[in-house]
Amino acid sequence: MSAVERALAEAEALVPEALRRLADYVRLPAVSSDPERAADVRRMAELAAHDLRAAGLAGVEVLEVPDALPCVRAERQVAAEAPTVLVYGHFDQQPFDPALWDSPPNQLTERDGRLYGRGAADDLGGWLSQLVAFRGWEAAGGPPVNLRYLLEGEEEIGSPNLGRYMDAFPDAFAADVMVLTDCDNPSTEVPGLTVSLRGLLEVEVSLRALAGKVHSGLWGGALPDVSVGLCKLIGGLVDEGGRLAGLEQPVDAAWRESVAGLSPSDEDLRRDAGLLPGVSGLDPGGRPRVEWMWRQPHLTVVATTLPSPERAANVLLPEATARLSVRLAPEQDADEAFAFLRRRCEELAPFGLEVRVERRLAAEGWSYAAEGPAFDAAARAYERAFGRPLVKIGVGGSIPFIALFAERFPDTPLVLNGVMDPRTSAHGPNESLDKELFRKVVRANVLLLDELARVADDLRR
Ligand SMILES: [Zn+2]
Repeated sequence: MSAVERALAEAEALVPEALRRLADYVRLPAVSSDPERAADVRRMAELAAHDLRAAGLAGVEVLEVPDALPCVRAERQVAAEAPTVLVYGHFDQQPFDPALWDSPPNQLTERDGRLYGRGAADDLGGWLSQLVAFRGWEAAGGPPVNLRYLLEGEEEIGSPNLGRYMDAFPDAFAADVMVLTDCDNPSTEVPGLTVSLRGLLEVEVSLRALAGKVHSGLWGGALPDVSVGLCKLIGGLVDEGGRLAGLEQPVDAAWRESVAGLSPSDEDLRRDAGLLPGVSGLDPGGRPRVEWMWRQPHLTVVATTLPSPERAANVLLPEATARLSVRLAPEQDADEAFAFLRRRCEELAPFGLEVRVERRLAAEGWSYAAEGPAFDAAARAYERAFGRPLVKIGVGGSIPFIALFAERFPDTPLVLNGVMDPRTSAHGPNESLDKELFRKVVRANVLLLDELARVADDLRR
């Protein structure tokens, strides 16, 4: 039996024990957005450090910078001439409301081959799949490459201090290849490699009409209503199909072909996103639906100052504001998109209302060719593990840590994988990890180190 076959067999045998350990991780409500849970995030860091040490990794340390939640580092040096692979994951969780869950969010619960619990897939199961692969290699005599692990405790709040960790601990990040395990797969059968992210532009638009509130019975009919004006303005930004008009990006036919079969059907949208039986998804207009999710901009109204039921009154308001969140296409220029939106809002402001448009935040997207020996190695590893070719996919959201790695390490291949699938419901209620997918990703992780070792000379330039 070759070393890689032994590592695969050992890792496979460790999966049931690892999934029991996952229950211990899920039990800690390590919610990074909640200052009252900071102690749980720290406890989770200690638990992760403990398990990395127990697995045989060296230099295990809980890292700190001031006014931030911790990171954890670890490494395993096998040979100076071997390439170094950095594995990234995170151990913090999104907040949760137990009332919306079918089982307690902090109690890992199995139903139909899936393990339900907050963080089970995002991202406790993600980095755990890497740790199991490592342990498989250790049991088979040691991994074929040098490894570093870097686990973050603030991913779910947008990695606000990861750049400071990169500055304070540069050796903890130094690597020839980075494997960032916190991403999605198109299905439990098809492995995914994430190659693009959408950007994010947040715009606030305000309409003003009056110096103060006035009675709608007395003045309605003579004065403009800013609430109606705001609804008309927002309605004018989208086309008949419900999509942001005027900012569409060109997408080539080859890309469309490469994602054939990956788009969710209306039935998938009902099952995975809770779309109601009488409602259909937005009409994709003959294009792959994933194009609209990954490669085109989209507008969402995320906040307004429209009257709420608790504040209902027969008055005309002086001012109304909406916060518009625009997911930008991966290559879209945020400044140009903002200039366009400002002009459109000014044109669309009805009834002669005063209009003000401000940019709140902008983050550009990211698009990656994902070509070269590291990606060829990943493609071989995944195809061997899944029996299906690796598919390049996009992410509709904006993931700050990926943008940060891409900016800080522009010449290092970033392999973005993970244990999530369309049913995972990361960040939502009933988050879950598919056990069979976890097993396949563990296999892929074992094989990836073998494949990377085979192209060592090309990786270490
Ligand atoms: Zn995550």
